[in-house]
Amino acid sequence: MVDEDALLARLTARQCWDAETLRGPATERLASNENVELPRGLAHQGRYALRLLNLFDGDLGRLRAAALRCRELAQEEDSHRQAMWMRATDLCEQAVARVTTRAGADPDHQQSYVHRLMHPEPDPAEELAYRVVWVATLPAPHNLFRASCMTPLSTAQRWARQARPTRTPRSCCRYHAVDWHRASRGARRLLRQARRGAGPVEEVYRRARALAARAGWDTAQREAALSLLSPAEGIIVSPEDSPARWFLLNGQHRTQALLEAGVRRTVVLRAP
Ligand SMILES: [Zn+2]
Repeated sequence: MVDEDALLARLTARQCWDAETLRGPATERLASNENVELPRGLAHQGRYALRLLNLFDGDLGRLRAAALRCRELAQEEDSHRQAMWMRATDLCEQAVARVTTRAGADPDHQQSYVHRLMHPEPDPAEELAYRVVWVATLPAPHNLFRASCMTPLSTAQRWARQARPTRTPRSCCRYHAVDWHRASRGARRLLRQARRGAGPVEEVYRRARALAARAGWDTAQREAALSLLSPAEGIIVSPEDSPARWFLLNGQHRTQALLEAGVRRTVVLRAP
């Protein structure tokens, strides 16, 4: 049973990865909720974590066991296959965390919260919302499995980076290849302009994309700035058990790159 669950988690991790990396119409199809029948307005990883919750009938015990099994299997694999098992582990853990951070340890609360997550009432206050934030105060990335060049920073290191920002792109990975100072500035500017029309995040993002196409930027700068604004790919933060604490639902690696570069302010999306 636990092996079947681990495989199910890995399959979901694979779909999540495909949705992030495929280009063209396939991305649209995979990223849309036609493929993942879940509440709209959550980013890739968060949405696939919810999908797992659904596939496992909201059974947190099964999810925990699957996370452990995936982690074990990761140890037995080469580095590429290991990454997929680790992503499966991460999705299982995120699915559990989505419930326990809000509902606590009481199984009844957990079940009613799972039901609410799976069958949300339409509520404008539950939609994603853009926030301009101080990068140094963002939640710590908890899973940097895609880039071996990244190691978590201590609080002191975060502030040291703020005091001595770096702008030179590096060639080690696609996250370090970006000038995040420029990308964040671009994203904030696009947001300011695109917000002049009202509407939900998806509409603001559509206008931002049109504005970016006319901004005269190179492809790398445009893509990096838009990656911060995209409701499907942006850095998504969600409140944990108290409003002062936050949890990164999406954008772990970009958050790390922003912290390392000492970027002051950037745009994130706040999830319900
Ligand atoms: Zn790197």
